[in-house]
Order: sequence, then structure tokens, then C-alpha cells
Amino acid sequence: MLPDPGQLPAEPPLSEPPLSGSPSRPLLPSASRLQPGITSTEPVQGQGLGSCHALPRSLSPSKIATFKDCPLSFKFSYIDGLKEAPSIHAVKGTLVHRALERLFWELPAGQRSLERACGFAESELDAMTGDDPDLDALELDDSGLAALLRQAKALIDGYFHLEDPDTIYPAGIEMALEADVGGTRLRGIIDRLDMDGNGNLTITDYKTGRAPSSGFERARFHGVNMYALLCEEVIGIRPAKVQLLYLQQPCVLSIGPSDQAIRAMRKNISALWNAVVKACDGGGFLPRISGLCGWCGFKDLCPAHNSASPATVASTTPAAGTATRNSIPAIPGTSTGNATTAGC
Ligand code: SF4
Repeated sequence: MLPDPGQLPAEPPLSEPPLSGSPSRPLLPSASRLQPGITSTEPVQGQGLGSCHALPRSLSPSKIATFKDCPLSFKFSYIDGLKEAPSIHAVKGTLVHRALERLFWELPAGQRSLERACGFAESELDAMTGDDPDLDALELDDSGLAALLRQAKALIDGYFHLEDPDTIYPAGIEMALEADVGGTRLRGIIDRLDMDGNGNLTITDYKTGRAPSSGFERARFHGVNMYALLCEEVIGIRPAKVQLLYLQQPCVLSIGPSDQAIRAMRKNISALWNAVVKACDGGGFLPRISGLCGWCGFKDLCPAHNSASPATVASTTPAAGTATRNSIPAIPGTSTGNATTAGC
């Protein structure tokens, strides 16, 4: 959902490209400043479906990725509303995203230095300590907090090796977008939307984890192509480029979303929503064992790994003969546009 126009800062409208050499503050306020996160897991009851499970209100790139990776994990997260245990990696990612958000939000071009960004990380960590349930749950002592800050600063340093923030004109930071795509409610938050002097848009997504190994890059673009589709639906402009900034390596994966990729994405989203509806309507959410199980926070609940959970098995496994596997449409891997990598 875009913010109420009455709350926008006094800046030129999005359709007007910035004056050359005058990058300033972002045009659109961040989602975190206007509204709570939009990734609500609050479900709604399936209507007229005789459903066994409540339907989620919408899909997001992360929900779609979770359903494709493991339907049962999707159920735990987005139907049952269970939360995975906080991790140091997730907290570090939050800290880095907050620091980079403030770098662009609070400072005009010419003042966006590494020192200022690291200063934001320090003040954000102070603000989070005692106030952020995920950070508090880690129970870090002073040396643990210092190590967390040191690692966050290293990632921020990685960012400065990838681009010069003084040359960036952000049209939006942490932008919450929501649209109806072929009858499916799609939601997402874009880390940063940039506009160049010609009015071309670029979606930027910060990644604090490792870059994908060769051969898996395209899979990473499925989510960001969904952001490109959302941007096109809400703003009416398809971004010319989508880039993933991997701060750890550091390296960049970028792609120009093609007509074919966006068309395929539209079809795939409605097919995937139908698969979710069928699963909620008695088809069940089956576990999908993979290497991701080692990282899954629901492993103790998972019947595939825990035969001592009869109640869980009964509630998640479809009746015999009703389904042998969730039907998950494949996202074409050859229609994502022209991907390029730099340094990965
Ligand atoms: S442990 Fe594996 S199969 Fe079970 S819910 Fe998690 S990802 Fe799915």
C-alpha cells in the first residue's frame, strides 16, 4: 500500500525525474515510518471453500518462496502464524538495513559517508537493545554485541565497495507496495527504488547473506521480478533494472526485467495462489525435505523429521488418496531477462 499522499514530503512527484546533479532525500516515506510491516500473517477464513485451513490474505515474494521451498513450512509460518527462533543473521540484517535506510533518508547527497552509515548502525543497535525482542532473545553480552556491530559495519563497508551513495537518487526507501495481480493480492516491500536523470527506475535489494553459487543466480531473481511487477502495477512504470547487492562478498547481480519474464510471473502468481487455495481446501501442506531442513526453525514440529508428533502429522498430512504432493507451478528459469553479475 502506498502512503497517504498527504503524508508525503514536499518533493517533486515520482513522475518527474530529478534535476541533474541534485539528488536529495527520497520522494516516498519508508513503510516503517508510516505503517507497521505489511507482512501480516493474520489469515482470513476461506469463503465458500469448505476449507480445512484459513487462507492467508495475500502473497508476498517471501511467502511464494517459502511455499515453493516447502509447503509445510509455509503452513507453519503463514497459516499457523508460528515464528522461527530469532537468529544472529536476521538481527544483523535488520541492523544493516536500518543503517542504510537512514543513510539515504536523513542525509542529502554529498554527506553519505561510510563513517555516517556506521554511526547509524551504532545508534540503531543502541535503540534495539532492550527494545527489540529478536535481539533480546539472543541474550548477547557486551562482547557479543560488539561482535554484532563489527560484523554489521563490515557489511556496510561492503556496500560502499559496490556503489557511491552520493550518486544515488532514491525515489523510495522501504516502499510498501500492494496490488491485485490476476485476482491475487500481492504485497511486498522494496528496499530502495532509485530514479536516474532520464526517469529510469532501478529496484535495489540489499543481501546480507552469501551470494548464490553459480547456476542458482536466476532463482534469486524470481522474488525481485515480483517486485518489478508490483512496481509496474502500482506506479505504472516497469523498472529498467533490478539489482541485488550482496554486501558480504561484495558483489552485484542485476537484471533487466523482460516482457516475457513479467508475463510468466503474472501467470505463475495466479497458478501458485490456486495451489495455496487447494492446499487450504483439504489438499494439505506436505513437507518437502531438502538441504533447507538444516536451517528450518520448525524441524522439531515437522512430521518428516519427528515421528513423535502424531497430532502434527494428523493436522498437516492430507487424507490417504486425496493428494500425493502439493502442485507447485514452476517459475520458468529462462525468462527472467538479461542477468549480469559483477564480482560474484
Ligand atoms: S524441516 Fe524441512 S520438510 Fe520439515 S517443515 Fe522444515 S523445511 Fe519443511
